Amino acid sequence: MRVLVTGGAGYIGSTVARRLVDAGHHVVVLDNLSQGHRAAVPAEAGFVEADLRHRDQVEHVLSDHRPEAIMHFASNTLVGESMEEPFLYLDDNVRCGINLMRSAVEYDVERFILSSTANLFGVPERIPLDEEVTIAPGSPYGESKFILERMLHWLDETHNLRFAALRYFNAAGAAGPDQGEDHDPETHLIPIVLEVALGQRDKIVIFGDDYDTPDGTCVRDYVHVLDLAEAHILALEALDDGSRVYNLGNGEGYSVREVIETARRVTGQEIPAEVGAPRPGDPATLIASSDKIRDELGWTPQYGDLEDIIGTAWAWHRRHPDGYNPAE
Ligand code: UDP
Repeated sequence: MRVLVTGGAGYIGSTVARRLVDAGHHVVVLDNLSQGHRAAVPAEAGFVEADLRHRDQVEHVLSDHRPEAIMHFASNTLVGESMEEPFLYLDDNVRCGINLMRSAVEYDVERFILSSTANLFGVPERIPLDEEVTIAPGSPYGESKFILERMLHWLDETHNLRFAALRYFNAAGAAGPDQGEDHDPETHLIPIVLEVALGQRDKIVIFGDDYDTPDGTCVRDYVHVLDLAEAHILALEALDDGSRVYNLGNGEGYSVREVIETARRVTGQEIPAEVGAPRPGDPATLIASSDKIRDELGWTPQYGDLEDIIGTAWAWHRRHPDGYNPAE
């Protein structure tokens, strides 16, 4: 299939692009390189540097490449940032999605996979979170993804655009020692902890230890980026049978302290930690129920173990301490 991957130079998008190429698909990556890295795009994939905020650029890519499926990763993705700069999300994220969906409809694309998020659920009414839990986005970020999910619902009704919304919990780990997570600035727990292990930072600051959890620190469901990639392949194959939404996690929660402890074991480093203020908007616990995608598509995560997840990330960080662009 010809697959357009927006944000295919980013962490999850590039991993999925690689997996698509390996499965024999013809991949074109669209990325503006504002956060992604050209070196992360698989050599076998086509690459177009374009910006989804400009509709003419999007149309150009669609008319040139005529994709049969679109996977839309390109996005602003930070809960905290969205509380400070809501229009990056309520405007940019939504506008980029609209531009892409308009072109998808115009060029008769029939399959669309959206990167969505556990932040749709804000402070959840029950744990684990299945797809029936009431949606009440926790931030402008979550809201922007919910808006895009609803748009896709209507484009399915009106234009037969089949879609899958895949709601990632905490994406983590590296696809290989030469393909991993490289954000600037880095805000995510596991890469920051590993930067401490590498001596690039003095310590990890734990954002609050007074939550209603066993050790007082936040509990999250970490899911390996290769397992997420597999879910995209399965969803793509299933789309002709109808649209669908899935929550993607391992169904197991680890506290911030457990992540740090595990990283100490994996790296053999001390990793100094201190407790700081809670981060606004962080719910105490987020754990997915992924029974639906397991039952319907046979998704079976291969990296359920936190040690494996952190181990793969550690291999990447050790080999590429400065990420993809050491010269920058
Ligand atoms: N966290 C932390 N210190 C950090 C970064 C993150 O204590 O320097 C915590 C954060 O409060 C959350 C968990 O680690 O409970 C995972 O955060 P991350 O930013 O990796 O992902 P999120 O849950 O925001 O998607």
